[in-house]
Amino acid sequence: MAEIEINGERYRLDVDHDLCMGTRVCIARLPGVFTVDDDANLSSASGDVLDPSLADAVREAVGDCPQEAIRLERLA
Ligand code: SF4
Repeated sequence: MAEIEINGERYRLDVDHDLCMGTRVCIARLPGVFTVDDDANLSSASGDVLDPSLADAVREAVGDCPQEAIRLERLA
């Protein structure tokens, strides 16, 4: 799990492991943030608090995931 600030709001970035199929598109978009466990074939986001400059790449990863498995949820 990771967090990022976008337009002054904090968001949590996470992967739904019930949907992820390990296609690794997310790694192509954000290689320093997503990693795929080779045994489980599941992606996870890490990096704690991400640099806000990664906001566009985060949105791309969310939009390009073929399983719609990447969650970007605003934190209260
Ligand atoms: S792009 Fe989506 S389905 Fe593919 S590994 Fe990443 S989170 Fe999983």
